[in-house]
Amino acid sequence: MAAQAGEKAQKTGVFHCAKCGEKVSVKEGHKIPKCPNGHTEFGSRTDEPGNR
Ligand SMILES: [Zn+2]
Repeated sequence: MAAQAGEKAQKTGVFHCAKCGEKVSVKEGHKIPKCPNGHTEFGSRTDEPGNR
């Protein structure tokens, strides 16, 4: 599921930048920040809690 910076995260997890692969962790209900390199598009989410 793709996501954009500024959207609310529907689940807690680590979002992977679609452009550079940088990872940003966001909690459920919080806004997704920009990637540290300034990108706003995230391609996938991983590392959801309780998923190990
Ligand atoms: Zn990026």
